[in-house]
Amino acid sequence: MNRERLRIVVRGVVQGVGFRPFVFRLATDLELEGWVQNSAAGVFVEVEGSRVSLDSFLARLTKEKPPRAVIRNFESAFLDPVPYRGFEIRASEEKGAKTVLILPDMASCDDCAREIFDPANRRFRYPFTNCTNCGPRFSIIEALPYDRANTSMTKFPMCAACAAEYADPSDRRFHAEPIACSNCGPQLQLWDEKGRTLASQDEALRRAADSIRAGKIVALKGLGGFQLIVDATNERAILRLRERKHREEKPFAVMVPSLAAARELCQISDVEERLLLSAEAPIVLLAKRSVLTIPHLALAPRNPNLGVMLPYTPLHHLLMRELAQPIVATSGNRSGEPICIDEDEALERLRGFADFFLVHDRPIVRPMDDSIARIMAGREMVLRRARGYAPLPIVQSPEVEGERSETVLALGAHLKNTVALSVGANTFLSQHLGDLETAPAYAAFLRSAADLPRLYDAAPTLIACDLHPEYLSSKYAAELPTPKIRVQHHWAHIAACMAENEIGPPTLGVAWDGTGHGPDGTIWGGEFLLANANGSFARVAHLRSFRLPGGNQAIKEPRRSALGVLSEIFGESLWEQTDLIASFSASELRPLRRMLAKNIQTPLTSSAGRVFDAVAALIGLRMRTSFEGQAAMELEFAIDRSFREAYPFRLTETEPIVIDWEPTIRALLSDIKSGTLPGAIAAKFHHMLTEAIVAVAAKIGEPRIALSGGCFQNRYLLEHTIDRLRAEKFRPYWPQRIPPNDGGIALGQVIAARALR
Ligand code: ZN
Ligand code: ZN
Ligand code: FE
Repeated sequence: MNRERLRIVVRGVVQGVGFRPFVFRLATDLELEGWVQNSAAGVFVEVEGSRVSLDSFLARLTKEKPPRAVIRNFESAFLDPVPYRGFEIRASEEKGAKTVLILPDMASCDDCAREIFDPANRRFRYPFTNCTNCGPRFSIIEALPYDRANTSMTKFPMCAACAAEYADPSDRRFHAEPIACSNCGPQLQLWDEKGRTLASQDEALRRAADSIRAGKIVALKGLGGFQLIVDATNERAILRLRERKHREEKPFAVMVPSLAAARELCQISDVEERLLLSAEAPIVLLAKRSVLTIPHLALAPRNPNLGVMLPYTPLHHLLMRELAQPIVATSGNRSGEPICIDEDEALERLRGFADFFLVHDRPIVRPMDDSIARIMAGREMVLRRARGYAPLPIVQSPEVEGERSETVLALGAHLKNTVALSVGANTFLSQHLGDLETAPAYAAFLRSAADLPRLYDAAPTLIACDLHPEYLSSKYAAELPTPKIRVQHHWAHIAACMAENEIGPPTLGVAWDGTGHGPDGTIWGGEFLLANANGSFARVAHLRSFRLPGGNQAIKEPRRSALGVLSEIFGESLWEQTDLIASFSASELRPLRRMLAKNIQTPLTSSAGRVFDAVAALIGLRMRTSFEGQAAMELEFAIDRSFREAYPFRLTETEPIVIDWEPTIRALLSDIKSGTLPGAIAAKFHHMLTEAIVAVAAKIGEPRIALSGGCFQNRYLLEHTIDRLRAEKFRPYWPQRIPPNDGGIALGQVIAARALR
């Protein structure tokens, strides 16, 4: 039997309501071993047993909880077995100062959702209803302690009725800091694009719904910022939004009125259902049904998946009840920027995007995008960590909780930036902030880098940043007087993955992504890094490097990666590869030829992402991209699963080992010539990558393999690699709560910097 350990941290009303005895009974019933313990940070549960029993433990924990228990927040991760013997209720953890935990924003609870549709309730149709079990938190907190006076609700004095509920220990709203009702709380308004008020309160909501039904674009001020909303059944409206947002092909997420409505669009498993209904309420990537009545090609072009979420605020519940159909709900921002949080700023920044603005007067303190998650290899994987997750800490297990007292502020990467702060055993990771290529994103980054130390009253003693000298985050680090450690990008990916899986050295890390600065000055991205006991790493293998004509420009043009790959193999005779060359105009080709001939503006790269790009271009799937990772995504979606073969490759006898893809590309080109279908080529290419990982793992000989970096958002690559590694008796690990993409870099920087001190 394959034994696994499941770690769960439950926060909410779970202390003093019979929760621990319930966990004990459930665990014993399922013949699981481990323990349950109360602590200041919540109830910790660790259970070990078969995967099937663990899955049903997870499902039953929320479904069968004691009636008075309320689970506000629930984190789980699968880990290696200890192993435990029997199941025990451990004594409460009392040591240490109470961790000041800021809870994330939470989706409306069932009680609040019921009240707003009950005509007899005094909160009937009030869109800012909340209670101690749900509602805004991190997005409204200005400072600690968490009191109303320290939130953006301070401008709304409570009415007598709310004050009475707030003071009544038997009330669900006892000390609910954001408590409000229509007499005392925030109010809705509908504005036109000039900011003129058209309607207020319930009429504003109804008129916004009418406008959406009429195909208009409505900017809605939600929980953590603005969303742009259109009717998801109206193709013309969707295309209009795409045109206005200059977002040609990147998928849009939809919000649906109910779980049943979600089932009409997508296939939903039990774990996916739990994720959709959770208080985190992320956008969940689900497999589209084969027959759909909504214009899914406009929503998610060339994509078998659809991002779906359920209403998570009373405002969304009310709007969805009016509309009774799916809507597009996409971030109210310009590409790469953080979402707008202020209505006056939104009028300015979303000018020309929205026809109407549905706004309210509760200030949002910090931007909080909708989070994105999906099920990979049977577990949750968070791809964008923001609303519902941030700023919960990554906690060292109570057993390994160390004496390391260094307070590290990590400044993250360049794309999908987040920042992180470690305080004692806790590392707080900020919400997703955006790409540091735009001024608003950089401003949000600066605010967040100052925000976390201020909130937790912690002065950083060490700054961690990326090795790349040109990242704005690295430049900012250079300005700070605090001692700093520069952490190699791919090493940060691996350090984060190892930390959340609670594994130490020696471990072989496989870090595959698009771009990261290597210490040798080349662009890394197809790396095998061996974690050493002293906190350092060794680059033990990598993909063969090639020249990237035009550097950064190549990221948007996979065909340039293809030129680079062919030039590496064929040299000057590359120009006889007519299929690819035909995609360039004569005036485009001239400078590219010059660059490659003279080695100018052609940085060397070992990036796996760029090899994906090259292959996508060679088979004619994608010559240019309009968003990061698009070519690799389409190559994954093209896979014909009936093909089991892999393209050949070669491992060198050098140190580091080089994975030579020349045999791969040669075989692939002859497949193209003989008319092999792209589905077969895509499958054989993915299998080659997996076999290369297995072959390198066999040469290095470490049983533990950590897989991270943006490439492992590719479900086929990840799941297939896990299967093959397991078949060869390796133990694969991959990111669960922390994104495998650059959103996880800040955590890795903290871990790597601490290990070196
Ligand atoms: Zn509630
Ligand atoms: Zn009130
Ligand atoms: Fe990366």
